[in-house]
Amino acid sequence: MINTKTAALQKLDSAHYLHPFTDHKDLASKGARIITRGEGVYVWDTEGNKILDGMSGLWCVNMGYGQTELVEAATQQMTVLPFYNSFFNTSVEPAIELAALLAEITPPQFNHVFYSSSGSESNDTILRMVRRYWDIKGEKQRKTIISRKNGYHGSTVAGASLGGMTGMHEQGDLPIPGIVHIEQPYFREVVKDHPELKDLSEDEFGVLAAGWLEEKILEVGADKVAAFIGEPVQGAGGVIIPPKTYWPEIQRICDKYGILLISDEVICGFGRLGTWFGCETMGTKPDFMTFAKGVTSGYIPLGGAMVSDRVVDVLYQDGDFNHGYTYSGHPVACAVAVANIKLMQKLDLVNRVKNDTGPYLKQAFESLNDHPLVADAKTEGMVAGLVMLKDKANNTPFDDDDNVGMICRGHCFDNGLVMRAVGDRMIIAPPLVISHAEIDELVRLARLALDATWADLKAKNIV
Ligand code: PMP
Repeated sequence: MINTKTAALQKLDSAHYLHPFTDHKDLASKGARIITRGEGVYVWDTEGNKILDGMSGLWCVNMGYGQTELVEAATQQMTVLPFYNSFFNTSVEPAIELAALLAEITPPQFNHVFYSSSGSESNDTILRMVRRYWDIKGEKQRKTIISRKNGYHGSTVAGASLGGMTGMHEQGDLPIPGIVHIEQPYFREVVKDHPELKDLSEDEFGVLAAGWLEEKILEVGADKVAAFIGEPVQGAGGVIIPPKTYWPEIQRICDKYGILLISDEVICGFGRLGTWFGCETMGTKPDFMTFAKGVTSGYIPLGGAMVSDRVVDVLYQDGDFNHGYTYSGHPVACAVAVANIKLMQKLDLVNRVKNDTGPYLKQAFESLNDHPLVADAKTEGMVAGLVMLKDKANNTPFDDDDNVGMICRGHCFDNGLVMRAVGDRMIIAPPLVISHAEIDELVRLARLALDATWADLKAKNIV
């Protein structure tokens, strides 16, 4: 039985609240879980359950809950100046301070930032800026942006078009013209349709998968391609960690055809992979970086695009860029971001992920590979994923109808762990401040959930 407060809130929630990516009839039949409080890597719901947040909220609460420095930065800025815009030759102090700090922590080609309030808006900005760049350079026909199937770049019209989620494209006639997709570097998925590739090594597959970019460039016409966009590690697509050979080959191809490279760092940025930005782990030198989420640890919405010198130099040549948001450079959001980044620096958090907690998570999480349900348990810094297989010995995947991800996610919740399901993959992206003991706890709870899932599947004669 749920308590009366939960019941009342669930009723109101179902009556009035349209949630993101939600089947509302289904939600109404179950009732939402209502989260009320957070501390460190844990959150609590209205039923008093303590839950280890293995997903950092939505890949964003990198510093964990309850960081008073961030709260104080927001309070202070709210008191002094809650809002002023950056249009019409004005600026605000926190936006300037953050821009300089971002120039310091990002790779050397980045010295300028354009602010937004989310990852989606940032990718919309980049799409417009890329086209403006080629326009000023006198190559107006370079409009096409190449992206990847099963990539995620947001939910706005441009963001969802850049993304390669078929379920999103089916709703609302997407993608918009000028955006085309190539196959993702997910070996297991690609082999389903191309069994002839099954004997390739990881490294060989990485080079092959990057080669699909070159094929697409030649198909579209090299003089018509403006940019390529990708996440260093695909997050929402199921934590697809590409082979080491993939990104360097993508960079080589972009350079060969003079195509701009956009690294969508909304998840991988701000230390997630054990470097400040994912492109540093992958060995690329992008022209743009999309960021959001981790810049403020999700305490307040902020996003943006880092723009490289090569692009800025061109934009400066030709008057206004007719684009911007009311909340571009919002002073409170920028003040929180400055406090967040300074706290990360004070704690030396990026190095800790790279040299301490990242390797610790690797050995703990990858030990799940011995479970009868599990294959490919793999981490990169503080993000990890595994695939559940119906018959591990014969590499047989589950059918979609088996709903294995949803079953496992349910058991995770029941055991006090947030783990996200993407089809038959289970993924985590815990707060970067997680301790060794909390990693042990996370993996112990994940194993319990996998055991319970296995038992369910056996009872239903699915395995
Ligand atoms: N890009 C990537 C890589 C993302 O993971 C996300 C969100 N999960 C977005 C863009 C969109 O960000 P937002 O939800 O803040 O619009």
